Amino acid sequence: MIGVGSGEKQGDRAAERAVMVETQLVSRGLRDVRVLEAMRTICREVFVPAPYLEDAYADRALAVGYGQTISQPYIVAYMTEWLGVESHHHVLEVGTGTGYQTAVLARLARTVVTVERIAELSETARARVMEVDVANVTFLTGDGGLGAKEFGPFDRIMVTAAAPRTPRALLEQLTDDGRMVLPVGEEGDQRLVLVERRGDRFDETNLLRVRFVPLLGEAGFAE
Ligand code: SAH
Repeated sequence: MIGVGSGEKQGDRAAERAVMVETQLVSRGLRDVRVLEAMRTICREVFVPAPYLEDAYADRALAVGYGQTISQPYIVAYMTEWLGVESHHHVLEVGTGTGYQTAVLARLARTVVTVERIAELSETARARVMEVDVANVTFLTGDGGLGAKEFGPFDRIMVTAAAPRTPRALLEQLTDDGRMVLPVGEEGDQRLVLVERRGDRFDETNLLRVRFVPLLGEAGFAE
């Protein structure tokens, strides 16, 4: 019998999640126990459209409609581990998409604000996040490249769409010792970047080559 805990349902795909965590995350060096626990308990199948259900725990990104994707589990966990989210943190996510990454962040943080430009995606994500018993999220619709100034500053910012360069508004909305993880670059040639703010200084570290959908809007690519 499968344990019933927060975000877990009897008869859900806990066994598949456990295998995913071992074979896709731990085996590739991910170690943060809180991140691994979130990945082990959040039902990814809730966030995947019906035609792709069988692939919910596959080792790749999936198309989810509106030309958008749900990121590969490894990338979700990797970005989350590098972000270093602590339980007292106030977090901004840009690009809600399905809401899966949102739910993972919300498990680790005190509060999450997430911005999505497509209202229908935001609405669907809100319902799914509630379904996995996550309640500490504010859903906004709009151009997330501009951040969410009235809700900031943020201890941590994660961007899940690729910008041509680091959006200035997001840097400004980080706390003094804040961190941000985001993909930067052109279509098909992007790197994941970690930004660490130390007062007025912003240190950047390149992490990994990645491929994300483009960030559109004022700080992104033309719509
Ligand atoms: N983290 C998501 C994947 C998001 S895909 C998940 O786990 O499912 C990237 C998302 O960014 C898409 O939903 C896209 O509509 C959104 N997006 C692109 N440009 C944006 C912008 N300027 N502001 C807010 N969202 C944006």
